[in-house]
Amino acid sequence: MVSIEIELPDIEPTTITRIAGVDVGMRYLAVETDLNNKSAFYSGKASRHRANQYQKARRTLQRKDTRSAKRRLIALSGRERRFIADVNHQISKEIAKPVSLIGLEDLTGIRERTKSKSGKKASKKQRKANRNSARWSFAELHGYIHYKANLTGSLATKVPAHYTSQSCPKCGHTSKANRPNKGLMFRCECCGNELHADLVGARNIAMRTLLVRQDWTSTGSLSVSPDVSRDETKADILQRFSELRWSVDTSPHHSGTPLGDG
Ligand SMILES: [Zn+2]
Repeated sequence: MVSIEIELPDIEPTTITRIAGVDVGMRYLAVETDLNNKSAFYSGKASRHRANQYQKARRTLQRKDTRSAKRRLIALSGRERRFIADVNHQISKEIAKPVSLIGLEDLTGIRERTKSKSGKKASKKQRKANRNSARWSFAELHGYIHYKANLTGSLATKVPAHYTSQSCPKCGHTSKANRPNKGLMFRCECCGNELHADLVGARNIAMRTLLVRQDWTSTGSLSVSPDVSRDETKADILQRFSELRWSVDTSPHHSGTPLGDG
């Protein structure tokens, strides 16, 4: 287990000039977007391929009950762990841009998401996907982002992950049907907004991070991920999230109107 001590640096909300959101998953290990509408996709294809190779090699060794096979199994898991750490290092280095508030999903219970809801036995393809996503250490990736952000005058913060992939960033409508056949395309059944499905999560996380920044400015303290275990709190938080709207028109990058006009 990798454990990283996180000490909050002495930082004021006014020093933060960039708000970003990061979504993690297996198709893309990470998708990053900021409120200036700049995005980056970190592919998981090569890593997934490598993870499958490790899995195959492990199976072969597990079938052999010899001392040398056991030794090789230990060496193999060490190599695999270092490979994952190396990829996580590279991605976190890119994501930890200066003077940013970087929103990350609270990953508590992320494995639930890959379980079959119908209670039916998972398909071979699904089992393979579950196995891979369980093996990739997103907690480690988050830890590295936290750590590297602090080195660049930035901060990483956790936001609740509820409905980040089902909520329309444009109109706020939240429904499973916004993701037809769980495909690559997000299509809002309410407003027709179409977007790369993996970007939807990152945008919703970025907007929730903006709320964290606003609360930070108004209260003077940066709250950690709010406790959504109480139903009452959860309803309040989700209500606030549902009012968020993604608009590139209001972001400084695209704005042609002088401040104070709106
Ligand atoms: Zn919509």
